[in-house]
Amino acid sequence: MGLQLQVNVAQLLKERVGAARMFEVDGPELETDDGPPAYVRAALRLTRTDQGVWASGPVSYAEERVCSRCLAPFASRAEAQVDDVFLPSVDVSTGAKLRYAHDEDADANSIDERHVLDLSDALRQYRLAATELAPVCKEDCKGICPECGADLNESECSCERYLDQRWSALRELTA
Ligand SMILES: [Zn+2]
Ligand SMILES: [Zn+2]
Repeated sequence: MGLQLQVNVAQLLKERVGAARMFEVDGPELETDDGPPAYVRAALRLTRTDQGVWASGPVSYAEERVCSRCLAPFASRAEAQVDDVFLPSVDVSTGAKLRYAHDEDADANSIDERHVLDLSDALRQYRLAATELAPVCKEDCKGICPECGADLNESECSCERYLDQRWSALRELTA
C-alpha cells in the first residue's frame, strides 16, 4: 500500500481564484527507483489559480542512509520547499479537454480527467534534489582506517599508533 499522495481537487477547481485548502501528508513511505523508501511529511497549501492548482509548502524526507566516510547506516533527514502548479486536463464544469500553450508544463504536472492531483512524481523530484550525494553521519565523522578498516569513531587502530610511535621516535632524533 503506497502513500496517499493523490487528492481530488474537483471542488477546489470550482471555487474562485485564491481559494485554498491544506493537504497534509504524514508518511509512511515514498517508493523510489533507487535506494530505500523515505518517510514523507508535508503540509501543503493547494491554491486555486486562474489556470489550475498551485501546491506550496514544506516537505521533509526521513530515510536510512549509509555514511560516506564510516559506512555505518544512520537516520538522515532532507527538506525541500514545494512550489508547483498543476493544470487540469479537462474543464471541471464542461468536461471538455483542455489544451495549453506550453504543453510540456501541462504534461509534467497535470490533474487527470477525474480531477485527481497526484503529488508522487513531484515529491520524488524534490527528494532527489534534496538528497546529498555523499552523506555523513555527523560533521566530524572520522571515517574508517584505509589500512585496516577500523571505525575510527569508536577506537584508534594500531596503524595510527604505529605511525605515532614513528613520529615520536623521529622527534627524539631531531631534538
Ligand atoms: Zn560516519
Ligand atoms: Zn588502521
